[in-house]
Amino acid sequence: MFDVLIVGGGMVGASLAVALKPLNLKIGLIEAFNFGVAEQPSYDDRSIALSYGSSRIYQGMGVWNKLRSGLESIQHIHVSDQGHFGATRMEAVEEHVPALGYVVESRVLGKLLYEELASGEVEQIVPAKVFAVEQGADAVKVSIERNGVVDVLNARLLVVSDGANSGVRNMLGIDVTRREYQQTALIANVTTAEPHRNTAYERFTASGPLALLPLTEGRYSLVWTHRVEDVAATMQLNDADFLRKLQLEFGYRQGVFTKVGQRATYPLVLQKAAREVAGRAVVIGNASHALHPVTGQGLNLGLRDVAQLAELLAEAAHEGSDPGATELLARYEALRKPDQQAVVRYTDTLVRVFSNDFAPLAHARAVGLMAVDRIAPLRHWNARQGMGMRQRQTRLARGLGLKR
Ligand SMILES: Cc1cc2nc3c(=O)[nH]c(=O)nc-3n(C[C@H](O)[C@H](O)[C@H](O)COP(=O)(O)OP(=O)(O)OC[C@H]3O[C@@H](n4cnc5c(N)ncnc54)[C@H](O)[C@@H]3O)c2cc1C
Repeated sequence: MFDVLIVGGGMVGASLAVALKPLNLKIGLIEAFNFGVAEQPSYDDRSIALSYGSSRIYQGMGVWNKLRSGLESIQHIHVSDQGHFGATRMEAVEEHVPALGYVVESRVLGKLLYEELASGEVEQIVPAKVFAVEQGADAVKVSIERNGVVDVLNARLLVVSDGANSGVRNMLGIDVTRREYQQTALIANVTTAEPHRNTAYERFTASGPLALLPLTEGRYSLVWTHRVEDVAATMQLNDADFLRKLQLEFGYRQGVFTKVGQRATYPLVLQKAAREVAGRAVVIGNASHALHPVTGQGLNLGLRDVAQLAELLAEAAHEGSDPGATELLARYEALRKPDQQAVVRYTDTLVRVFSNDFAPLAHARAVGLMAVDRIAPLRHWNARQGMGMRQRQTRLARGLGLKR
């Protein structure tokens, strides 16, 4: 019998498995793909802006020092609105933090998490897929298929982190609300003539936000939102034409764009599970909330789910109580709700207000951007929201280990 069985070893599920390693619990991790195979959807070409708050969570898990060496930090963020006045800037120095955030390639993060899992405290059930779940009073039965063989695993708690299209969430009968943004994110790594000097850019354009995140080797990670109907044309451009089009959208703040790597696209939706708990199961990460990538909040929010759940499970392990108890899961859900609701509202409002040509709205957001820039408390509020510092600070978020 597992104390905790995690289904989905993407960035959120694997992070939870690493966080739980020091606890005296029997933990299992079910993942559909071996790490490193092309089909694995979590560890692909995208880069992730980890907030300063997330870096503290990884510090609490004891993996930050290893991860930090392969990352570029964000010291400055510049936010602007294409074709209109008004910009705002945020500075790590002004917020008294070593960095506003860090940029990590998702493959690099995945490699580190799976290296941490290789030490054996967590049983890896890979490659395996869950195809049925049955709730019982004392345990949940999880049916899996591994290499063509069917097996049934029992767990006191099932953690569902199998991503936005979560099959297990559906098996548990949890509904979702879903709205298509009619936008697609195009990602690629690009190089500019000017060095990035640890500056990230978020530029709002009529078709959606365009972000540049500073990467190692002087590269930038580009996340360029397009209207659904326009993305194919940009994907088909040769490199020179692609860079010319990007230059027109972004301008010359970084000099000339000189190089572009492989491109990929992601359709963008807002999706939220109607509830996160069903019997002895709890839904976390993208399986619970999938967001627009504007301001890079999705994984950061999922890592705060991880930190909260890990803290409650550490308390249960310490007391020898049931990790799948109704009260524990209800407490988890109640503690996470305010943060999740605030981040969903924040990202959704940004996308709606800024992906709009309506003149009075354009004027209002120019005033808004200038106000944020000029009024220190507003700028500070915005920076701390983005850094994951306004939310409830769990032990891991304070950089502390789970064990007292
Ligand atoms: C273009 C883009 C840019 C982004 N940028 C940022 C950013 O800068 N900052 C940020 O914080 N977030 C960012 N995000 C969001 C971030 O990528 C997601 O929030 C994060 O990947 C969610 O991780 P997850 O583990 O919950 O889900 P996933 O990454 O979807 O992982 C789910 C895992 O479950 C496995 N699985 C699925 N079904 C089963 C099954 N039945 N049995 C076993 N295993 C199964 C899958 O193989 C996969 O490994 C971005 C997203 C996009 C699209």
